[in-house]
This record gives sequence, structure tokens and C-alpha cells, in this order.
Amino acid sequence: MSTFRAVRIDVQSGAQSADYVEMTEDELMPGDVDLAVLYSAINYKDGLAVTGKAPVVRRFPMIPGVDLAGRVTRSAHAGFAPGDLVVATGCGLGEAHFGGFAQKARLPGEWLVKLPGALTPARAMTIGTAGLTAMFCLFALERHGLSPADGMAVVSGASGGVGSFAVALLAQAGWRVAAITGRPAEADYLRSIGAAEILTREDFSSPGKALQTQRFAAGVDTVGGATLANMLAQTRFDGAIAACGNVGGMDLPASVAPFILRGVSLLGVESVRPRINLRREAWARLATDLDVAMIDAMCEIIPFDQALERARSIVGGKIRGRVVIEMR
Ligand code: NDP
Repeated sequence: MSTFRAVRIDVQSGAQSADYVEMTEDELMPGDVDLAVLYSAINYKDGLAVTGKAPVVRRFPMIPGVDLAGRVTRSAHAGFAPGDLVVATGCGLGEAHFGGFAQKARLPGEWLVKLPGALTPARAMTIGTAGLTAMFCLFALERHGLSPADGMAVVSGASGGVGSFAVALLAQAGWRVAAITGRPAEADYLRSIGAAEILTREDFSSPGKALQTQRFAAGVDTVGGATLANMLAQTRFDGAIAACGNVGGMDLPASVAPFILRGVSLLGVESVRPRINLRREAWARLATDLDVAMIDAMCEIIPFDQALERARSIVGGKIRGRVVIEMR
């Protein structure tokens, strides 16, 4: 039985710990497809999982890693054959099913999407859950009927993973994008990926009036709390904000005024459930809409032995764009 290296989260006497371990294939969880994991990536949720700062992990032991891209080594699923390059994100990976911080993975074929032509495994992981979630946010805004002709779009947590992809995808779709950031030093980076205006996090982070000057037709919020409340209060008639994150808090200290007086909508977005057809549609569009040079500009590639340390640091809001883990 061959062994492989993994990060494993264990719990003993109520105390959680995470470390590198050697595991055997017979310890993998059930699934009809085996993969050699080539790349993974670090998401905010992985930071919460390895630090134990939020109850992300739903069974122990657990291999963290919400995202993975790999090569199929065995398949009992009709859709996949050895050699296929595939990506999996969400679906409980790193929470209830062993995730991507490992050299091997076994998972159900219905969670997998074959990599669309232009995307390499490393670029697919640069996109990962962050890009997929941003794509789902754009889908939600478009399905609401919004288009760049309606006005400006706003993105909070803009230099983070989801935020960066939201800025890039909205700009690519023709929107003029305002990026809210707490890191003025990232202004050039944000402009390089498509932001037209840089807004200051502090201007959004304290509770404001229920209705404020109408500035935005659409938005993507990764922060929650007062930031989301202020974004809603600054949204124009019939506009919408797609909300997907909570780095600033789980609460929503908002008023119903934007909803009932301006017809503003709050669109919830989650990217964890499998919904394979929606995923295929999203990956196909990500592969065509995003410029590969821009994807590469958002990416920092690190070796596997730095994954745990970097996952711990993401909860401090210290990561720009996407940190991709190379498994070799
Ligand atoms: P990142 O850490 O990469 O990005 C978060 C960004 O938010 C930071 O880079 C920073 O950007 C900003 N930020 C950090 N702390 C605060 C704070 N206290 N107040 C305001 N802004 C802050 O995380 P991800 O992009 O991976 O995830 C973002 C959020 O989206 C998380 O809450 C995550 O759980 C959620 N998420 C939800 C998904 C879903 O299915 N609904 C899927 C994926 C992610 P800046 O410095 O530019 O202000």
C-alpha cells in the first residue's frame, strides 16, 4: 500500500491540532475516482479549519483543502478515465470529506469537472473556489437582469481571493468597478485587474444611514456586517448586491429601507453544493472570460511544505489574490 503526504487536522480532548503526516491509500474516504493531486489552494475557510477559529470541520480526522486539481489515476465513474485532468471545489471538501492538502484524493465523480481546454491545473487552482464563487455572483447579478449600462459595480474585500476575481470578472464583462479595500498599497494591483475606482474600507465599516447617496447598480460583498449594510444603502433603484462572505462579521446591521423604497435586492450566493451543471457552465465561462496573464498575476505558487503556515495566516487578512499549493 503506497503512502502519501497530507496535512491532517485531529482533535484530542477537545483540542484541535493540524500537522503534516504520512497516510496510506486505505485511509482515504469513499469515492469512485482516485486522483494524484497536482495543486491545491488556500481559502479563507481552510484558514478557519486549520486554526479552529470557526467550526468548519465536521468530522475528525480531516484533511483540509476546499479546492484541488489533479490527474485521474483510477475511475469507476463513466465520465472519467485515468489521465484526465480534473478540478473539484467545495462539495464538503476539507469539511466533511478529505480535501486538497494531500498528494492523493478519492472522491465521487459527480463532484469533478474536466479542466476546460485552456486551463492548466495551476490556473484552475488560482481560480478555485474564489473564482467560482465570484462567477456565481456575476451569474446572480446577470440573472437579476443587471448589465453594465445600469451603472457602476462595487466589490468589497477586493484584494482577497473572491474579491479579486469579482473585480476581474465584472470588469471583463464591461462593468465600471469600484473596489473597496483596507489596503491602499494594493491600489495598483486592483487597477491592474480591472478596478476603475479605489474606495476605502473605513468609509464602509461603520454603521451609516439607512438610505445614502445612490452610487452602485450592482455589487459583490465578501465582508458582511456594516460593509454590506452600507453597500445596500448606496445601491440604486432596482440594483442588487450578491453577498457571499463574512470576513467582517456574520451580522447584518441594515434597514429594510433600500428593499422597500428603492427595490434593491440582496442575492445570496454559495458555492459549496455540487450542482454539477452550474459548475460546468461556470468553469467554461471562467476559461474563456479570464485573461491567462491576469490569472497568473493573481497567483503566488508555494511548495506543499508551506501550505499549513500560509493557511494559518489567511485569517489575518494578509493574503493578496490567491496562494496556490504545488504538491510535488
Ligand atoms: P481572503 O482572505 O482572500 O479575502 C478577504 C478580503 O477581505 C481580504 O483580502 C481583505 O481585503 C478583506 N478583509 C479582511 N478582513 C476584513 C475585515 N475585518 N473587514 C473588512 N474587510 C476585510 O478570503 P476569500 O476571498 O477566500 O473569502 C472571502 C469571504 O468569502 C470569506 O468570508 C469566505 O468564507 C467567503 N466565501 C464564501 C463562499 C460561499 O460559498 N458563499 C465561497 C468562498 C468564500 P482588502 O484588504 O482588499 O480589504
